[in-house]
Amino acid sequence: MKRDRAFEILSGVLGNLRVRQSEKLKYHIFNSTNSLADIFFLATSQKELIKALDLSFKNKINTTLIGGGTKTFIPGSKVRGFVIKNKANSIRVVSIKGKVGKGNIGVEKISAEIDSGATFEDINRFISFQNLKPVDWLGPLQGTVGGAVFLEPYFKEVVEKIKVWEKGEVFEVDFPELKNRKHIIISITCSFEAN
Ligand SMILES: Cc1cc2nc3c(=O)[nH]c(=O)nc-3n(C[C@H](O)[C@H](O)[C@H](O)COP(=O)(O)OP(=O)(O)OC[C@H]3O[C@@H](n4cnc5c(N)ncnc54)[C@H](O)[C@@H]3O)c2cc1C
Repeated sequence: MKRDRAFEILSGVLGNLRVRQSEKLKYHIFNSTNSLADIFFLATSQKELIKALDLSFKNKINTTLIGGGTKTFIPGSKVRGFVIKNKANSIRVVSIKGKVGKGNIGVEKISAEIDSGATFEDINRFISFQNLKPVDWLGPLQGTVGGAVFLEPYFKEVVEKIKVWEKGEVFEVDFPELKNRKHIIISITCSFEAN
């Protein structure tokens, strides 16, 4: 599809001010100096990420997804098509285990859903704010969970649920069913112990 038509479709749904043309990737990727993205969108929530993925899939627009951009290298001066930067970084407590005692709520374990655009820095902040025990599966501060799940065997041990997107559908898979380059990670659910 021609760039102008793709821009028209994407900006028509995602918003004229949100979808940019010829965006400098040096602001979004660590190893890129002068490369430009033909069309660019920064997704700030799961909903926006899924909407952008659905739209590009439905209209057959060539799409590249980046998280923190710490492991992405752009060889040329341009990325043709649509680049989605994943900044969906909410972390929500989904369940709490523990015993309520006299005068205190004895939280023992927290289960949290972590959006795939959350960086390890975001997770550190969550751990500290919720007074949880530090975990040993955190990577470099600016790397995101979505970019790390396929690369790091650590996740096999800690992830309880994985929500993925594939061809316009969002569903949960177990770790062994994950397929690189086919599944887009939307969120993971993990448990954390209280301090
Ligand atoms: C415990 C631990 C220690 C680590 N130590 C190191 C280290 O010392 N040095 C080091 O360099 N790395 C290390 N890593 C790996 C690093 O954290 C990950 O590679 C990083 O998180 C990549 O994230 P990113 O968002 O920057 O990836 P990006 O560069 O944005 O993307 C990398 C690739 O992942 C794909 N991707 C991004 N988001 C998604 C998504 N939501 N769904 C599907 N695919 C996606 C992109 O399309 C691209 O192909 C470590 C990881 C862990 C867990």
